[in-house]
Amino acid sequence: MIQLIRGFKDILPGEVERWQQIEKIAASRFEDFGFKEIRIPMMERTELFARSIGEDTDIVEKEMYTFPDRKGDLITLRPEATASVVRSYVQHKMFAKDPVQKFYTIGPMFRRERPQKGRYRQFYQINVEVFGVASPLIDVQLIFMLVTLFTRLAVADLKAHINSLGCPACRPNYRAALSKFLAAISNKLCSDCRRRRRRNPLRVLDCKVPSCREVLAEAPSIIDYLCDYCQEDFAKVQEFLKKLQIPFLVDKRLVRGLDYYTRTTFEIQTGSLGAQSAVAGGGRYDGLVKMLGGPDLPATGFAIGLDRLAEVAEIRHSEFIRMPDLFVAALGEQSQDKAFEWICQFGRQGLVAEMDFEDRSLKSQMKRADKIGATHVLIVGDQELQEGAVILRNMLTKEQTLIPIKEVVDRVKTYIKREAQ
Ligand code: ATP
Ligand code: MG
Repeated sequence: MIQLIRGFKDILPGEVERWQQIEKIAASRFEDFGFKEIRIPMMERTELFARSIGEDTDIVEKEMYTFPDRKGDLITLRPEATASVVRSYVQHKMFAKDPVQKFYTIGPMFRRERPQKGRYRQFYQINVEVFGVASPLIDVQLIFMLVTLFTRLAVADLKAHINSLGCPACRPNYRAALSKFLAAISNKLCSDCRRRRRRNPLRVLDCKVPSCREVLAEAPSIIDYLCDYCQEDFAKVQEFLKKLQIPFLVDKRLVRGLDYYTRTTFEIQTGSLGAQSAVAGGGRYDGLVKMLGGPDLPATGFAIGLDRLAEVAEIRHSEFIRMPDLFVAALGEQSQDKAFEWICQFGRQGLVAEMDFEDRSLKSQMKRADKIGATHVLIVGDQELQEGAVILRNMLTKEQTLIPIKEVVDRVKTYIKREAQ
């Protein structure tokens, strides 16, 4: 038997309805806030991710699925969506019409991480991006939208962690202070961090190795190094989160696993997930549009981990699992042919109708109707065809109704729809 690839998974009927509900609720919430859906490809030139996410990040260093296509060009299965959305915004010069554009997109991402609970190699994200707005109020709006969406989806024990990563004016000062600190403790760092320390010291803060995390507790905090502008910006974020009554926590060690972030950065965590507690992460990435060949326009956004969200959203999805409305039990070849025509017509009319294609006994067909949870059964045999009427049985109430064959599709539909009200 061929099994699926390690770190990949199937989302089966029964569970998939939960995903559909979440996606539907999220999309409509984003549309309420003026976002439009965008769909981007699953593969891009490797260069796009290497340049935007950053060469020294875990993602680019060791997690990307990269391979040469048949002509030798290096392509990569997307590990995240932002780079592609920015590429699309720049490539189609969407800024020319209006620099302010708001997008959301939903789909799979690929990272070759160590598989464990809440961590897969193909996982799903819901992404939101805003271009052309420099005001920190838009960051507040994103966090507000996220937290209220999670509340709507009944995610328990929510916490918004926020931090500021400064800007090109003030980050170098912090970088220098952090480098100095890291140089002094470098013998306590893991080998990856020892290398990162020289090339990109901020990355060290994101290291997941416990011994690194421990020594980093003493590291200088970026908040103490923010320039006036960034300080004001971050203060405004906090002021408005309070106004909107969104509880948050300033987390000085919060950096993101990607290089392009500036100023406000955030993560939504939930206590119900165990070790993989981050259910969404995001922040401002003002330099990325320019870096990818567009004008110097600000941008901000977030990504929700849909696999983790599906695990903690307490929505009742069973009511969205559709049961058959109707089972057509047909006896004899003629009736079978008729039944087949009917189930096709029922499907077109929006009723889920099933039949048995094997011409088994009435008893075994009734058993099957019961097994698949059909709420009604339509019984048809030679005699019914001759008399021009069939019996519709409600499986729950056992009530039976005689339906003229001539109008069977319309009459059954009206009957079942009326009952459902
Ligand atoms: P983590 O710290 O958990 O590794 P990250 O910083 O790598 O997350 P982002 O790149 O910011 O994550 O992606 C946003 C969200 O996508 C995360 O908060 C998480 O919910 C989800 N996510 C990231 N990687 C995975 C994965 N391998 N499997 C499942 N979900 C993931
Ligand atoms: Mg990660």
